[in-house]
Formats: sequence, C-alpha cells, structure tokens
Amino acid sequence: MQHKNLVMTDGLYEYLRSVSIRETEIARRLREETRLLPMAMMQIPPEQAQLMALLVRLIGAKRCLEIGTFTGYSALAVANALPDDGRLICCDISEEWTSIARRYWQEAGVADKIELRLAPAIETLTALLAGGEAGRFDFAFIDADKSGYDAYYEAVLQLLRPGGLIVFDNMFMGGRVIDPEATSEGVDALRQLNAKLRDDPRVDIAMLPIADGVTLAMKR
Ligand code: CA
Repeated sequence: MQHKNLVMTDGLYEYLRSVSIRETEIARRLREETRLLPMAMMQIPPEQAQLMALLVRLIGAKRCLEIGTFTGYSALAVANALPDDGRLICCDISEEWTSIARRYWQEAGVADKIELRLAPAIETLTALLAGGEAGRFDFAFIDADKSGYDAYYEAVLQLLRPGGLIVFDNMFMGGRVIDPEATSEGVDALRQLNAKLRDDPRVDIAMLPIADGVTLAMKR
C-alpha cells in the first residue's frame, strides 16, 4: 500500500530531536539513568513526552491518570505541564522502578502534584469509580501490561469527562501487530483493541506512527 510517511532515518530522527526537543535538565538525567536499566525500552522517547505535555496544556487538563509509570519520565512531563493545582494519579506495581521516579519528581518540584498508587491499576481505577470519580478526569496515559489495556480503557473512559483524552502507548507492539507468527497474549490484545477503537463510537481517534505507535482517543 502506498503511503506518504517519510521513512524515519537516524539522520532525520536526530534532526527532529535537535530542532524540537525542549527537555529539562532533570528530565534528561532521568532518561539517562533509565537508559542503563535492563527494562530501558519501556521508557517513552522525549518527543512523545513533549507531545503528551502539549496535549495536557491544549485541553487544559487538571486531573490526570497514568497507568504504568515505570521510572516516571512521562509522569514528570505531564506534571510539569499541569497548573499548580493540577493532579496526576500514577498507577504502578513496582516499588523499585517508581522509587527512581519519586526521586526525580521530588527534585523537579512536582512531587506534590503526583499521587503514586502502588497496586494493580485495575484496582485503583475501580476504587476511583467506586469513590464517585466518574467523569472527573481530563487526561489519561495507558502504558502498562498489554493484556490489561482493554479493561483499563473501559475504566478510564468512565473516569474521563466528555472531551477528555486518552493516550495509548505501544499500539504497534514493536511491529508485531502485523506479524502473523506473533501470537502472544499482549499482541493479540492490542490487535483487538486497535480494531475496537477504530469502530468505537464513544471516542474520536487518531493513530500516530511515532515511537511504537501512539493512539489518541477523545471521549465524545
Ligand atoms: Ca510503553
């Protein structure tokens, strides 16, 4: 199939970064520290963090959710973009990775805006719904276990206000979504979710071929 996307060469990518990335010094150090970890590929690239920060500002988000925090790079970008009275609830199950996150959030002066909930995300989302928080969030980033994405989507959709935005990460699964031999639970889950989102009348969507495939879904 013909398409008009440029092939992202290393040179072009370097250029993109050189003319567009406005990373804080603290964020850069967090990215560098994370890069040395065995799970480093779980960290989103700076251009994606910057896009998310822009989206947060664009919709005037004040109350945000993050499903899958890892070492806190994306949360740092979102928290930096929030007004002083903005709040971000981060869901993760790793004490180890999020302890790195906390250190940098503290240093960046955004720790007061972030509430980390160490528990399976679906429990946190269910508790928020039970606590009457439906329709009270503006923005959510979903980037945790892929087989859980659909359940996170359904819960987050209830928690968002109309006009609220969801950002889904890794929707290409490293390209495996189109590999017929790739049949892991996570890949199958995202194939199904991608097809579901295309036909879902509850949201307006756009799928961006940046990083590992990023889908934006705005609640109608
Ligand atoms: Ca990811």
